[in-house]
Amino acid sequence: MKRVVILGATGSIGTSTADVIRRHPDKFVAHALVGHRNVEKMMGLVRLLRPEIVVMTDLEAAKMLSDRLAGHVPVLAGMDAAIEVSGSSHAEIIVAAMVGAAGLPATMAAVRAGKRVALANKECLVTAGRLFMHEADRCGAEVVPVDSEHAAVHQALQGQPRASVAKIILTASGGPFRTRDPDSLRDVTPEQAVAHPNWSMGAKISVDSATMMNKALELIEARWLFDARPDQLDAIIHPESIVHALVSFVDGSVLAQMAMPDMRMPIAYALQSTPRLASGIEELDLPSLSRLHFEPVDPRRFPAMRLVRHVLSGEDSLAIAFNAANEEANAAFRNMKIGFTDIVRIVEQVLAMTEGCNVQDFEAVWSLDAEARQRARELCGG
Ligand code: NAD
Ligand code: MG
Repeated sequence: MKRVVILGATGSIGTSTADVIRRHPDKFVAHALVGHRNVEKMMGLVRLLRPEIVVMTDLEAAKMLSDRLAGHVPVLAGMDAAIEVSGSSHAEIIVAAMVGAAGLPATMAAVRAGKRVALANKECLVTAGRLFMHEADRCGAEVVPVDSEHAAVHQALQGQPRASVAKIILTASGGPFRTRDPDSLRDVTPEQAVAHPNWSMGAKISVDSATMMNKALELIEARWLFDARPDQLDAIIHPESIVHALVSFVDGSVLAQMAMPDMRMPIAYALQSTPRLASGIEELDLPSLSRLHFEPVDPRRFPAMRLVRHVLSGEDSLAIAFNAANEEANAAFRNMKIGFTDIVRIVEQVLAMTEGCNVQDFEAVWSLDAEARQRARELCGG
């Protein structure tokens, strides 16, 4: 029986993880569920999974939840408590599914404690990929990606040394605006941007999919996860989201991974890769899908893909600024402070102000992150 901690339990990935765990009561038990502010959602998860501990990183929410649970389950409060349960000797698997760089400290606690880390929180790797993977190696943590494209690459790479790999190609659905006139993108609303055609996800990543910042972040994520060179990384548009990634090898063979677009598949794989677990997703029925399409990414429609090339071949500070500025601009767009096309424009402006340097420690990461956020906030109108 493996004891699991879910960081970001109340979110989209957290909820799908709860569903997979619930299907395997003989294999997994919830040690701790970590949420932020959503007390109602956490109450439902507590009923479903009966965790040993609950953490709310928001202090007021922790107090409310504690009153509601009336001593039946211990409730801890604050990010420090999240960090503590994440590194606790009582847990074997940590599902890292908080959103944004805010999830980095708790995820690092799991890495440093040498856990199996089922990693959904891509912003961790974008922000601190070099330090993150170095610590994972040093501490014996096993990092298994939950991000569907990276889970696909992970599967395709099984048993292959790096020298066999020619290219890693991530697929992108193209989001809700794949065929829309680029000149009309200025006026799209947050509601239109979060309406993803194939995936049901949290608000931030849904907007990232619409701007294609999500694929840009994923290329950086892949760079660190698979120790790939920038010229080995590519993305193509595949509107059906059935093929999640492809790996081409030096002999010309290409392995693609396919599954219905449902995050429970990569989550089940990240919880236990061998033997595979039933995940609850719908079976793939190729005759009913009939056709799969692939097309190049148009950098005019998706300027984020042009910017990321510069970030991939540059120093660590560029990736930190890229992520931090995007988090701020994405939130400002969702709060109707800026327009849709301003998001990537602001990321580009913050990048242009960022001096290239590599980082040696997490203090440097946080200071560059704060600097870029400040610049982005000013560009978003304060
Ligand atoms: P979500 O918004 O649905 O959930 C985010 C979770 O993080 C919630 O539990 C929330 O309470 C918690 N959280 C938010 N702000 C926090 C803070 N400041 N401190 C502590 N906790 C905080 O997001 P999601 O769609 O589940 O995505 C989670 C992560 O997984 C993101 O990094 C995303 O890029 C990645 N991811 C998601 C999907 C998907 O299908 N949803 C796919 C691939 C990768
Ligand atoms: Mg993805």
